[in-house]
Amino acid sequence: MIQPVQTDADLRHLNTLHLPAHAARLQPVDDASDLPTLTQAARDAGGPVLVLGGGSNIVFGRNVDGTVLHMRTLGIDLLAQSGNDVLVSVAAGENWHDWVARALAHGWHGLENLALIPGTVGAAPVQNIGAYGVELIDRLDHVDAWDMTDRRWLRLSADECRAGYRDSVFKHELAQRAIITRVAFRLTTEARVRCDYADLQRELSSRGVTQVTPQHVFDAVCAVRRAKLPDPAVLGNAGSFFRNPVLPAADAARLLAAHPDAAHYPAAHGAVKVAAAWLIDQCGWKGARRGDAGVHDRQALVLVNHGEASAADLLGLAADIQASVQARFGVTLEPEPLILR
Ligand SMILES: Cc1cc2nc3c(=O)[nH]c(=O)nc-3n(C[C@H](O)[C@H](O)[C@H](O)COP(=O)(O)OP(=O)(O)OC[C@H]3O[C@@H](n4cnc5c(N)ncnc54)[C@H](O)[C@@H]3O)c2cc1C
Repeated sequence: MIQPVQTDADLRHLNTLHLPAHAARLQPVDDASDLPTLTQAARDAGGPVLVLGGGSNIVFGRNVDGTVLHMRTLGIDLLAQSGNDVLVSVAAGENWHDWVARALAHGWHGLENLALIPGTVGAAPVQNIGAYGVELIDRLDHVDAWDMTDRRWLRLSADECRAGYRDSVFKHELAQRAIITRVAFRLTTEARVRCDYADLQRELSSRGVTQVTPQHVFDAVCAVRRAKLPDPAVLGNAGSFFRNPVLPAADAARLLAAHPDAAHYPAAHGAVKVAAAWLIDQCGWKGARRGDAGVHDRQALVLVNHGEASAADLLGLAADIQASVQARFGVTLEPEPLILR
């Protein structure tokens, strides 16, 4: 049954930065097969349509003068199993971390490194979530979606999602157009692990783990994340506020000649990914606070809402951080979350 639309809906509890904002209409989506009807109704009502999952990668800089479709669809289906390979389809509204934990409990391995990332399964392909050496694309088989513009169902292969570093086709041609309804994962029952990431290795060795299992990786990732990142339920935040800048080789060489201690990693085609947290920290922002908007004291990449920060407070702070990094290092920082200005 289609839930009633809520008018002038408060979105503060639906975004992890806890920013005050309202939606002209808030429509829960509990069944993907209702999307043709619900998207038509949203169009007829006027204004933009925004798809919302857990609100953990979005900055409500203004009210939404249209309809927010809140994805709450649930369901996990094993589509196929052959030898060690499993193909599992998960509904968009499932909580990401709960799905990772359930996959592990089933003995379906491959997602452990992505434990404890907030948000929904349906949003994961949008920015090709990644952590501790694994990205969604490494485990993705296909994505099902409803195309609001052409009004038809889509199935995109992993290649067609055109995933990049915190990027995909859903941020470009299919932005404000494709509503992801299900994500299908290719996992394995083998106890294969990926634990070459430095923080993870440190945590595993501090626990005295030698024969590393997927469960060890899951536990270690959760521990590292809990130690480093603020829990949005306690301190409002949207995770990394900026993407790590990827510099062409020549620009990176110039930066590293002047700052040999800058944290950096190799990227595709000879480019270099520089740690945005290092750049921000060097500019003295870690732990800074302006009113209720601030920079987290353990992770300079995370902007926080200490209570009553407005979007203007937070975006003003972000702009000043960008300006100081630009002035000192000549590097442009791009925001990671979707910002509604
Ligand atoms: C503490 C913290 C830690 C984080 N750590 C990481 C990390 O390690 N790695 C990482 O990659 N990210 C991280 N994030 C960011 C965030 O968790 C992910 O981007 C997550 O996938 C967002 O999910 P969501 O459901 O909250 O999306 P939302 O914030 O609701 O939406 C984000 C974007 O996706 C779109 N969207 C949402 N659902 C759908 C759908 N079903 N179909 C189409 N479009 C949709 C929205 O319109 C919006 O553009 C972190 C965030 C926090 C708060």
